[in-house]
Amino acid sequence: MPELILRLALPSPLRRLFDYRAPPGLTRQDLQPGMRLKVPFGRREIVGVLIELRNHSEVPPEKLKAALQLLDPHTPLPAALLKLCLWAAQYYQHSLGDTFSWALPALLRQGEPAQLRQERYWKAVTGANPDDPRLQRAPRQREALATLAQHPHGVAQQLLSQLQLSRDSLELLQAKGLVELEVRSSTPQRHHGGWLAQAELPLNAEQSSACNAIHSGLDSFNAYLLAGITGSGKTEVYLQLIRQTLEAGKQALVLIPEINLGPQTLQRFTRRFNARIVLLHSAISDRERLDAWLAARDGEADIIIGTRSALFTPMKNPGLIIIDEEHDASYKQQEGLRYHARDLALVRAQQEDIPIILGSATPSLESLQNAYNGRYALLRLTRRAGGAQPPRLLRLDIKSRPLDAGISGPMQQAIEQTLQAGQQVLVFLNRRGFAPTLLCHDCGWISQCPHCDARMTLHQRSAELRCHHCGHSQKQPKACPDCSRVDLRPVGAGTERAEERLNTLFPQFPVLRVDRDSTSRKGAMDKLFQSIQRGKPCILVGTQMLAKGHHFPRVTLVAILDADGGLFSADFRGSEHTAQLILQVAGRAGRADEPGRVIIQSHLADHPLLVQLTEQGYFAFAEQALSERRSAGLPPFSHLALLRADSLKPAQAEEFLDAACALAEQLLGTLNCSGVELLGPVPAPMERRAGRYRAQLLLQASNRASLHRLLTPWIQQLEQLPGSRSVRWTLDIDPTDLF
Ligand code: ADP
Ligand code: ZN
Ligand code: ZN
Repeated sequence: MPELILRLALPSPLRRLFDYRAPPGLTRQDLQPGMRLKVPFGRREIVGVLIELRNHSEVPPEKLKAALQLLDPHTPLPAALLKLCLWAAQYYQHSLGDTFSWALPALLRQGEPAQLRQERYWKAVTGANPDDPRLQRAPRQREALATLAQHPHGVAQQLLSQLQLSRDSLELLQAKGLVELEVRSSTPQRHHGGWLAQAELPLNAEQSSACNAIHSGLDSFNAYLLAGITGSGKTEVYLQLIRQTLEAGKQALVLIPEINLGPQTLQRFTRRFNARIVLLHSAISDRERLDAWLAARDGEADIIIGTRSALFTPMKNPGLIIIDEEHDASYKQQEGLRYHARDLALVRAQQEDIPIILGSATPSLESLQNAYNGRYALLRLTRRAGGAQPPRLLRLDIKSRPLDAGISGPMQQAIEQTLQAGQQVLVFLNRRGFAPTLLCHDCGWISQCPHCDARMTLHQRSAELRCHHCGHSQKQPKACPDCSRVDLRPVGAGTERAEERLNTLFPQFPVLRVDRDSTSRKGAMDKLFQSIQRGKPCILVGTQMLAKGHHFPRVTLVAILDADGGLFSADFRGSEHTAQLILQVAGRAGRADEPGRVIIQSHLADHPLLVQLTEQGYFAFAEQALSERRSAGLPPFSHLALLRADSLKPAQAEEFLDAACALAEQLLGTLNCSGVELLGPVPAPMERRAGRYRAQLLLQASNRASLHRLLTPWIQQLEQLPGSRSVRWTLDIDPTDLF
């Protein structure tokens, strides 16, 4: 009888499969791709995923080990998910085993059974009435019962807080016999009247034409770019299309950038639908993640909402994928498997033959170009749905104007005016801390980080110098470490300094700072937002944390202190990101009766990009930026791959990249690949970081197929290079940052 050899993907960085003998007693019929097996690996036991079965192995028989145990009676990975992972590993030139490590819930990787567990559901008993006399003096319980009654098949324990249901109220209702708790593995088949727990809004003309266009393509793969300004009602369009998907008996997957910043969006989903919703984001436990994954796989969840990695959630009856804020940088993973969730979602939609909607007020240039060349249908929403006016954007030229903690005179006046009118101001500055540098006025010493080619930021509140790149911190020196004199001065301004100065300038108004430093304590963010929502005049100072998720209806002035750093940075994506950020921040402000304005301070107020953005809007800006990319041969008009390396000793990383470059040149010759250029190797823009020396080699190709034809054999050779062990290296396909 021929031997039965299992080829497994193991959690290892090596880009190959590993051969094992089948565990004793198992036959070919017992084994299917996707099943998990426990195997010996070195001195450990690990869990691998079966990819294929063979009759023989290249491994010498005496070295071939037997797998220890089959963990699954059926394959836990649906074929579609397996296919997606194989595609991702191939495209991103990543080890398949490690791809599974990023794509699958941790507990599955550790061998946990892949079956649904019991969940607790709260539901109103039949006939329970919020007008029950026993609830007359218990408004909270009455409200809780009313909410619960809208969800006839119950609300999962996990979702109580989303609906603002408190356990206490429910337990009191339970004691009165009005509410019951059910433990079951899933929601029973729907016998409910409809999917809506709340009426839909009547759509305006633009919304309906977008909705109709997508509705007509709901049965197969179609890609839509829903480009709607902030507040134009994109979410309402999503909700109505999801309802149609549910009515067709299918599931919807919604990706959002960062869950803790989108509680309002989330609540809209849970309030709208009488459906089983699961959430997948970084703050849930491993158990909750596995349960949600299993529920989606088995068709026990109707709507799956999650951040980046939720893309890998299997669905029994996939019907629709939505990527909200598709331009958001958090969709790109910057470690390990460096995938882009938006790009992979497109592949998935194609593989599963279902529609995908990319939504944004400020679409990425990649997606816009795909819309212009016809790969996506472009749907635009140009008006705010609630009737509010979009804010006006104004440039403020600060050439040769003195800045006071980064704030010019005219800006101070605009702030004053707004506060006096009883409104709120949002001051945006994308730099934390007090000042980005501390300088000795006597000898020129600057606060250089000992481990990086970067300066340490002064954090005056905590009297520290901190490096934002490696995390190193030290006490703020009282005297100059070099010359011992005491004339140390902060240079430039961060949010802490702007906050301090604004406090002095406007002592009668509260100044609230929102950045990673001020909101690190649990609940601090919520508290801040509560006081903002009360609507009294105040100043908000913050970083890009302010740009997402929340609405500040009483803010009528957005003051952008420094647009130049980003708009005109060396990174070719800098201007795109800054324009998106400006519009996202701007979109937080204003409502119908109080239109907002956005004032942008710039030293280059006449620059065409800034003029286009402020006078004609994001699309005009994007067209200008795209034409610049086209003439420079940059993405989306070319394809990039970046080989990064770093080492403890100087020059080692560059030597590795030199060897890599020589190999690539050879391969290009033998493969007859044209249109691939090798740029570098060069030291990284910040050469030393966290004590390591960094260098990079950029591959730029006019044709994606040629690039990938080169990459596959090249990376095999790189794994064999003598330097490949002493140097840390990674290959980034479609890099978003060139650092
Ligand atoms: P976006 O997702 O584009 O930022 P939203 O869907 O959040 O926009 O809509 C912005 C506001 O307008 C919300 O308060 C929403 O309830 C309201 N809205 C959306 N569509 C309509 C509509 N058709 N009629 C009235 N109000 C609407
Ligand atoms: Zn000095
Ligand atoms: Zn550092």
